[in-house]
Amino acid sequence: MKETVGTRGLILNEPFLWERGGKGRTGYSLPRRDVEAAALPENLAGDGPDFPDLSEVEVVRHYTRLSTWNYGVDSGMYPLGSCTMKYNPKTNERQAALPGFSGAHPLVPSELCQGALQLIYELEHYLAHVAGLDAVSVQPSAGAQGELAGMLIFAAYHRDRGKPRSKILIPDTAHGTNPASAALCGFKAVPVETGPDGVLLPASVEALMDDDTAGIMVTNPNTLGLFETHIQAIADIIHAKDGLVYADGANMNAVMGVVDFGRAGVDVLHINLHKTFSTPHGGGGPGSGPVCVCKRLEPFLPAPRVIKTEEGYALSEDFPKSIGKLHAFYGNFGIMVRAYSYMLSMGPKLKDVSQHAVLNANYIKEKLKDVYHLPFDRPCMHECVFTDKFLEAQGVTTLDVAKRLIDYGFHPPTIYFPLVVHGAIMIEPTESESLENIDQFIATMRLIAQEAEENPTLLKEAPQNPKVRRMDETTAARKPCLRG
Ligand SMILES: *Cc1c(COP(=O)(O)O)cnc(C)c1O
Repeated sequence: MKETVGTRGLILNEPFLWERGGKGRTGYSLPRRDVEAAALPENLAGDGPDFPDLSEVEVVRHYTRLSTWNYGVDSGMYPLGSCTMKYNPKTNERQAALPGFSGAHPLVPSELCQGALQLIYELEHYLAHVAGLDAVSVQPSAGAQGELAGMLIFAAYHRDRGKPRSKILIPDTAHGTNPASAALCGFKAVPVETGPDGVLLPASVEALMDDDTAGIMVTNPNTLGLFETHIQAIADIIHAKDGLVYADGANMNAVMGVVDFGRAGVDVLHINLHKTFSTPHGGGGPGSGPVCVCKRLEPFLPAPRVIKTEEGYALSEDFPKSIGKLHAFYGNFGIMVRAYSYMLSMGPKLKDVSQHAVLNANYIKEKLKDVYHLPFDRPCMHECVFTDKFLEAQGVTTLDVAKRLIDYGFHPPTIYFPLVVHGAIMIEPTESESLENIDQFIATMRLIAQEAEENPTLLKEAPQNPKVRRMDETTAARKPCLRG
């Protein structure tokens, strides 16, 4: 096997802490006791809890070894499409950990947390600027909750006009959370079929738009990694029938400083701070999905909102048309500090981020398309989508390619998504990767394609190198073993 990035090497078996160590070993020493010994109260007496007895070095090694079993963006390339698993500069972690931010109690009076309120206020303005919209609430705690806020705003807007509507148009290339968010607000999701080159056609929207349709939810760039080039014409069709346009902007990493969503006719958009704006994504940790709106929808934004008064910054509930509160206090503040710090340190270079992310994805697309089947051969945005069509003759699938990548030290890309592409392999390199890393990934993908031709068993039996081989993923999902 060729030289690889790094899952190989010393792989140690790691027993449970209870199986390690020996009676009486400790990892600390206490000062000599200078008071009389006393018996424990009766209800606490006995053998006590079953803690393992270990020395300090045993504990350090145990947890250090366990930490190396995880693959993360700090250990190597993580080309997971639709997730934007990019490198997050450590300085933003440091700012979020400043005691004034991390220790601020959410119930502290406004006059004692002016800095935190100012940060939220300014972050909302910066995000509005990047989106090309007028007002923002950073309260939603995930992309999907930003969508929920958006759909509640759609419903509130139509109710306010005295004409509630019941349907939402959702293209088949939308993210799966879109129809779910619409349904949670009582809307019926009406699917719109994508055109032959992977983007939505105005005529398909026109045929479905009517007076009972509240609007459309467009993921842009869509889940094929393509920019919805007809967004403006589509917005005109929706607006002509008094509908609203929602853009799922979770893929903002592709378009910062490049696309003005307000000018494109978008009324509501959410952004994922835990993809684009320097919060690690994918660990199931807290997130933030700010919802951005145009001027006429501002009254409906979640409350409370941070306002600026002559005496300083304050939280205000005085928004009678607001859809209300979506999160305890004011959302996940630590994520906001990271985003604010990231935006201040990047400034206009945010545009370079997007341009590099798009360049990297197109580079991979061009370098692999003679080997891997490319369903839509046109310039992509931040991610490119291949399929396993060329592997059919060998009986090899997308899953086998993904597993073989693990042997070569790469985290696999997103697979079998988007659903509109059979056997999809969705690659998002992000702007973080150097040309050498990307070239190594490309060379590995090409090598795997060659192996599929010459020795498909290598793929079928992959992964060989990591600690855990191919798992029964159905049983793992249905009957998870949570004890380790
Ligand atoms: C990630 C993503 C979402 C959902 O965001 P969460 O924070 O996971 O809820 C929605 N839409 C698109 C296009 C996404 O990529």
